[in-house]
Amino acid sequence: DSHTTWTAVDTYFNNLLLPADQYLDVALSDAAEAGMPMHNVSPSQGQLIALLMRMHQSKSVLEIGTLGGYSTIWIARALPEGGRVISLEIDPTRAEVARKSIARAGLDNKVEIITGAAVDTLPTLAAKGYAPFDFIFIDADKPSNPIYLEWALKLSRAGTVIFADNVVRNGAVTNADSDDANVKGVQQFTELIAKETRLSATAIQTVGEKGYDGFILAIVQS
Ligand code: SAM
Repeated sequence: DSHTTWTAVDTYFNNLLLPADQYLDVALSDAAEAGMPMHNVSPSQGQLIALLMRMHQSKSVLEIGTLGGYSTIWIARALPEGGRVISLEIDPTRAEVARKSIARAGLDNKVEIITGAAVDTLPTLAAKGYAPFDFIFIDADKPSNPIYLEWALKLSRAGTVIFADNVVRNGAVTNADSDDANVKGVQQFTELIAKETRLSATAIQTVGEKGYDGFILAIVQS
Protein backbone atom coordinates (compact mmCIF):
# COMPACT_ATOMS: atom_id res chain seq x y z
CA ASP A 1 0.00 0.00 0.00
CA SER A 2 0.96 3.68 -0.15
CA HIS A 3 2.29 3.85 3.39
CA THR A 4 4.67 0.95 2.75
CA THR A 5 5.98 2.72 -0.37
CA TRP A 6 6.36 6.06 1.46
CA THR A 7 8.29 4.35 4.27
CA ALA A 8 10.53 2.49 1.80
CA VAL A 9 11.31 5.77 0.00
CA ASP A 10 12.11 7.52 3.31
CA THR A 11 14.41 4.60 4.19
CA TYR A 12 16.08 4.73 0.76
CA PHE A 13 16.91 8.44 0.96
CA ASN A 14 17.68 8.50 4.68
CA ASN A 15 20.20 5.66 4.29
CA LEU A 16 21.99 7.65 1.61
CA LEU A 17 21.61 11.21 2.88
CA LEU A 18 21.38 11.08 6.68
CA PRO A 19 24.29 9.74 8.71
CA ALA A 20 23.39 7.01 11.22
CA ASP A 21 23.22 8.57 14.65
CA GLN A 22 23.24 6.69 17.92
CA TYR A 23 22.15 9.71 20.00
CA LEU A 24 19.01 10.25 17.94
CA ASP A 25 18.30 6.50 17.98
CA VAL A 26 18.67 6.26 21.75
CA ALA A 27 16.52 9.40 22.23
CA LEU A 28 13.73 7.62 20.35
CA SER A 29 14.13 4.29 22.12
CA ASP A 30 14.23 5.98 25.56
CA ALA A 31 11.07 7.92 24.66
CA ALA A 32 9.33 4.71 23.60
CA GLU A 33 10.49 2.94 26.75
CA ALA A 34 9.05 5.81 28.84
CA GLY A 35 5.70 5.19 27.13
CA MET A 36 5.68 8.30 24.95
CA PRO A 37 3.76 8.26 21.67
CA MET A 38 5.96 8.31 18.54
CA HIS A 39 4.88 11.84 17.65
CA ASN A 40 8.41 13.01 16.91
CA VAL A 41 9.29 14.40 13.51
CA SER A 42 10.71 11.88 11.04
CA PRO A 43 14.48 11.91 10.37
CA SER A 44 13.99 13.63 7.01
CA GLN A 45 11.81 16.30 8.65
CA GLY A 46 14.38 16.80 11.40
CA GLN A 47 16.99 17.35 8.72
CA LEU A 48 14.64 19.73 6.87
CA ILE A 49 14.32 21.90 9.99
CA ALA A 50 18.09 21.76 10.50
CA LEU A 51 18.72 22.80 6.88
CA LEU A 52 16.20 25.67 7.06
CA MET A 53 17.83 26.90 10.27
CA ARG A 54 21.28 26.79 8.70
CA MET A 55 20.12 28.56 5.53
CA HIS A 56 18.51 31.19 7.71
CA GLN A 57 21.46 31.27 10.16
CA SER A 58 19.05 30.90 13.07
CA LYS A 59 20.81 31.40 16.37
CA SER A 60 17.90 31.42 18.79
CA VAL A 61 15.09 28.91 18.45
CA LEU A 62 11.82 28.39 20.28
CA GLU A 63 10.27 24.93 20.18
CA ILE A 64 6.77 24.40 21.55
CA GLY A 65 6.43 20.65 22.30
CA THR A 66 9.59 18.75 23.33
CA LEU A 67 8.33 15.17 23.79
CA GLY A 68 11.52 13.07 24.12
CA GLY A 69 13.80 15.73 22.65
CA TYR A 70 14.21 14.13 19.23
CA SER A 71 13.53 17.30 17.21
CA THR A 72 15.34 19.31 19.91
CA ILE A 73 18.55 17.38 19.15
CA TRP A 74 18.23 18.13 15.41
CA ILE A 75 17.65 21.81 16.21
CA ALA A 76 20.48 22.10 18.76
CA ARG A 77 22.94 20.54 16.32
CA ALA A 78 21.99 23.04 13.61
CA LEU A 79 22.79 26.00 15.89
CA PRO A 80 25.98 27.98 15.44
CA GLU A 81 28.43 28.51 18.31
CA GLY A 82 26.63 30.36 21.12
CA GLY A 83 23.19 29.43 19.76
CA ARG A 84 20.31 28.38 21.98
CA VAL A 85 17.03 26.50 21.80
CA ILE A 86 14.28 26.98 24.36
CA SER A 87 11.86 24.04 24.31
CA LEU A 88 8.50 24.04 26.10
CA GLU A 89 6.96 20.82 27.44
CA ILE A 90 3.93 20.35 29.69
CA ASP A 91 4.86 16.88 30.92
CA PRO A 92 7.74 16.92 33.46
CA THR A 93 8.49 13.21 32.92
CA ARG A 94 8.88 13.76 29.20
CA ALA A 95 11.04 16.81 29.83
CA GLU A 96 13.31 14.76 32.11
CA VAL A 97 13.78 11.99 29.54
CA ALA A 98 14.46 14.66 26.90
CA ARG A 99 17.06 16.39 29.12
CA LYS A 100 18.93 13.09 29.54
CA SER A 101 18.95 12.40 25.79
CA ILE A 102 20.11 15.94 25.07
CA ALA A 103 22.90 15.74 27.67
CA ARG A 104 23.99 12.35 26.30
CA ALA A 105 24.32 13.97 22.87
CA GLY A 106 26.52 16.67 24.43
CA LEU A 107 24.03 19.43 23.70
CA ASP A 108 22.86 20.48 27.17
CA ASN A 109 24.81 23.76 26.95
CA LYS A 110 22.62 24.79 23.98
CA VAL A 111 19.22 23.65 25.26
CA GLU A 112 16.85 24.82 27.96
CA ILE A 113 13.66 22.83 28.46
CA ILE A 114 10.98 24.71 30.37
CA THR A 115 8.20 22.62 31.87
CA GLY A 116 4.62 23.77 32.18
CA ALA A 117 1.69 24.53 29.90
CA ALA A 118 3.07 26.65 27.06
CA VAL A 119 0.32 29.25 27.60
CA ASP A 120 1.87 29.81 31.04
CA THR A 121 5.55 29.62 30.07
CA LEU A 122 5.41 31.63 26.81
CA PRO A 123 4.67 34.88 28.72
CA THR A 124 7.88 34.41 30.79
CA LEU A 125 10.30 34.23 27.86
CA ALA A 126 10.62 37.91 26.96
CA ALA A 127 11.50 38.91 30.53
CA LYS A 128 14.21 36.23 30.54
CA GLY A 129 15.78 37.97 27.56
CA TYR A 130 15.17 35.08 25.15
CA ALA A 131 13.10 36.98 22.58
CA PRO A 132 13.05 37.73 19.75
CA PHE A 133 13.62 34.24 18.36
CA ASP A 134 15.03 33.65 14.88
CA PHE A 135 13.10 30.42 14.33
CA ILE A 136 9.94 29.11 16.03
CA PHE A 137 8.83 25.48 15.74
CA ILE A 138 5.19 24.96 16.79
CA ASP A 139 4.62 21.26 17.55
CA ALA A 140 2.49 20.81 20.69
CA ASP A 141 -1.29 20.51 21.30
CA LYS A 142 -2.89 21.53 18.01
CA PRO A 143 -6.05 23.11 19.54
CA SER A 144 -3.76 25.79 21.00
CA ASN A 145 -2.13 26.62 17.66
CA PRO A 146 -4.05 29.93 17.34
CA ILE A 147 -2.69 31.04 20.75
CA TYR A 148 0.80 29.84 19.82
CA LEU A 149 0.65 31.92 16.65
CA GLU A 150 -0.11 35.03 18.70
CA TRP A 151 2.83 34.30 20.97
CA ALA A 152 5.10 33.49 18.05
CA LEU A 153 4.37 36.94 16.63
CA LYS A 154 4.98 38.62 19.99
CA LEU A 155 8.30 36.80 20.36
CA SER A 156 9.48 37.45 16.80
CA ARG A 157 11.21 40.12 14.70
CA ALA A 158 11.11 40.86 10.99
CA GLY A 159 12.77 37.80 9.45
CA THR A 160 11.70 35.27 12.08
CA VAL A 161 10.73 31.91 10.56
CA ILE A 162 7.72 30.01 11.88
CA PHE A 163 7.37 26.29 11.17
CA ALA A 164 4.20 24.48 12.30
CA ASP A 165 3.87 20.72 11.93
CA ASN A 166 0.87 18.43 11.33
CA VAL A 167 -1.44 20.86 9.58
CA VAL A 168 -2.84 18.45 6.95
CA ARG A 169 -3.99 15.66 9.26
CA ASN A 170 -4.56 13.06 6.57
CA GLY A 171 -6.52 15.59 4.55
CA ALA A 172 -9.00 16.39 7.34
CA VAL A 173 -7.98 20.06 7.27
CA THR A 174 -10.37 20.60 4.34
CA ASN A 175 -13.39 19.33 6.31
CA ALA A 176 -15.25 22.50 7.32
CA ASP A 177 -17.64 20.44 9.49
CA SER A 178 -14.94 18.59 11.41
CA ASP A 179 -15.53 18.42 15.16
CA ASP A 180 -11.96 17.20 15.78
CA ALA A 181 -10.35 19.81 18.05
CA ASN A 182 -6.96 19.25 16.38
CA VAL A 183 -8.41 19.91 12.93
CA LYS A 184 -10.24 22.99 14.19
CA GLY A 185 -7.00 24.21 15.78
CA VAL A 186 -5.07 24.03 12.51
CA GLN A 187 -7.96 25.55 10.54
CA GLN A 188 -8.19 28.55 12.87
CA PHE A 189 -4.40 28.82 12.89
CA THR A 190 -4.33 28.92 9.08
CA GLU A 191 -7.15 31.47 8.92
CA LEU A 192 -5.26 33.71 11.35
CA ILE A 193 -2.11 33.46 9.23
CA ALA A 194 -4.16 34.32 6.14
CA LYS A 195 -5.42 37.51 7.81
CA GLU A 196 -2.04 38.44 9.27
CA THR A 197 -0.33 40.99 7.03
CA ARG A 198 2.94 40.56 8.96
CA LEU A 199 3.26 36.98 7.66
CA SER A 200 4.06 35.44 4.31
CA ALA A 201 3.33 31.71 4.39
CA THR A 202 2.84 28.48 2.52
CA ALA A 203 1.61 24.96 3.36
CA ILE A 204 3.40 21.88 2.08
CA GLN A 205 1.81 18.42 2.10
CA THR A 206 4.10 15.56 3.03
CA VAL A 207 4.03 11.78 2.77
CA GLY A 208 6.49 9.41 4.40
CA GLU A 209 6.96 7.01 7.27
CA LYS A 210 4.72 9.28 9.40
CA GLY A 211 1.88 8.98 6.88
CA TYR A 212 0.12 11.83 5.10
CA ASP A 213 0.47 15.22 6.75
CA GLY A 214 2.16 18.55 6.16
CA PHE A 215 3.55 21.73 7.57
CA ILE A 216 3.13 25.48 7.34
CA LEU A 217 6.22 27.59 6.81
CA ALA A 218 5.99 31.32 7.37
CA ILE A 219 8.23 34.36 7.67
CA VAL A 220 7.54 37.54 9.61
CA GLN A 221 7.98 40.25 7.00
CA SER A 222 7.54 43.41 9.08
N1 SAM B 1 8.73 18.21 18.73
C1 SAM B 1 8.75 16.81 19.17
C2 SAM B 1 9.60 15.99 18.22
O1 SAM B 1 9.42 16.16 17.00
O2 SAM B 1 10.42 15.17 18.67
C3 SAM B 1 7.36 16.23 19.23
C4 SAM B 1 6.39 16.98 20.09
S1 SAM B 1 4.86 16.12 20.32
C5 SAM B 1 4.12 16.24 18.74
C6 SAM B 1 3.92 17.28 21.28
C7 SAM B 1 4.38 17.50 22.70
O3 SAM B 1 3.71 18.67 23.20
C8 SAM B 1 4.05 16.38 23.66
O4 SAM B 1 5.20 15.91 24.30
C9 SAM B 1 3.08 16.99 24.66
O5 SAM B 1 3.26 16.54 25.99
C10 SAM B 1 3.43 18.45 24.55
N2 SAM B 1 2.30 19.35 24.94
C11 SAM B 1 0.97 19.09 24.83
N3 SAM B 1 0.26 20.11 25.31
C12 SAM B 1 1.16 21.04 25.72
C13 SAM B 1 1.03 22.33 26.33
N4 SAM B 1 -0.17 22.85 26.60
N5 SAM B 1 2.14 23.00 26.63
C14 SAM B 1 3.38 22.48 26.35
N6 SAM B 1 3.55 21.27 25.79
C15 SAM B 1 2.46 20.56 25.48
